Amino acid sequence: MERSHLAILGSTGSIGTQTLDVVRQHPDRLAVSMLSANRSADKLIAQALEFRPKHVVICAQECYADVAKALQGTGIQVHSGTAALCETVADSEIDIVVAAMVGFSGLRPTLAAIRADKIIALANKETLVAAGALVTSLAAERHIPILPIDSEHSAIFQCLQAAGQNRPRRIHLTASGGPFRTWERERIARATPAEALRHPNWDMGAKITIDSATMMNKGFEVIEAKWLFGVDPADINVVVHPESVIHSMVEFADGAVLAQLGCPDMRQPIQYALSCPSRWELNNRKLDFATLGSLSFGAADTERFPCLAHAFEAIRRGGNLPCAVNAANEAAVKAFLQEKIGFYGIAELVEQALAMTPFIAEPTLDDIFETNRLAYDRAADKAGL
Ligand code: MG
Repeated sequence: MERSHLAILGSTGSIGTQTLDVVRQHPDRLAVSMLSANRSADKLIAQALEFRPKHVVICAQECYADVAKALQGTGIQVHSGTAALCETVADSEIDIVVAAMVGFSGLRPTLAAIRADKIIALANKETLVAAGALVTSLAAERHIPILPIDSEHSAIFQCLQAAGQNRPRRIHLTASGGPFRTWERERIARATPAEALRHPNWDMGAKITIDSATMMNKGFEVIEAKWLFGVDPADINVVVHPESVIHSMVEFADGAVLAQLGCPDMRQPIQYALSCPSRWELNNRKLDFATLGSLSFGAADTERFPCLAHAFEAIRRGGNLPCAVNAANEAAVKAFLQEKIGFYGIAELVEQALAMTPFIAEPTLDDIFETNRLAYDRAADKAGL
């Protein structure tokens, strides 16, 4: 059997390392052609020595010498910088690009991978939030599938595969509610970065964990679902489901609802993006309904989690506004982690980005980069970054 050759962008992050664990379990099916990291040189070197890819890219120029020295004599080609990342991702050996970088930085290499006709396994939702129209139309033009890794979107994808030609009437996007689900607004307002980083169900990187605490992550997932599945955001219902066992649901015209369930473990959606429509063995924990007891559900509260409402407004108005919201959020999360602003300072900066950004209905790629820069700089400036 021919193995699928992967490029993993962001290989030292949470999704990247879990993707490599999937590769470890299927050496007869998967091979690694390329690994890239922003600046985690030691981790990247260790991964390269284990998986022996053709290419390694360390984005931060100042880390290049260390990586190149450590991999000398291995035959692995070491590169540095974003331009090199966009070039190497086009290598003809690569079949699937796992886009698992953090934030807006994932956009450029993902576009390069689509232009090089690579299958995209997408974890980096900010790419679709910032430039969903451009990314999905380019992928459609080139007949390139974008397969979701995000657990909710993988669940929706799996439900839709079971639905044949039937289109969904509504999507029920589940949300754990994050660490502040049961907290009152006054207490949330005083939340520290350490408290916000303590996610109840999922072990993830810092950026997405803060986004989960503000529920901006869920707002971004609404936008991501619109672009992946062509659903109107007005037909997406966010359901708080603290156990994170149902990963999302699809409702049809007759009221029937299909759900996808599993223990919270990202390796399942990662592996499915690489194996679909086949299913492979995975050494994860399986659901035990006898000990599971009950599952609970509730409505999302946009009073305590205003970022969710801001995301809905951004996608309803469309154009370059989701890009502006993403950029302001990126700066705001950084400022919150550095304790320069309070927890609700994130929502305030996002709301200001919605109000202040000059609207462009059909932004070009240049418009997207310019909107991102302006909105990021304005928020960073306000936050004292
Ligand atoms: Mg998710």
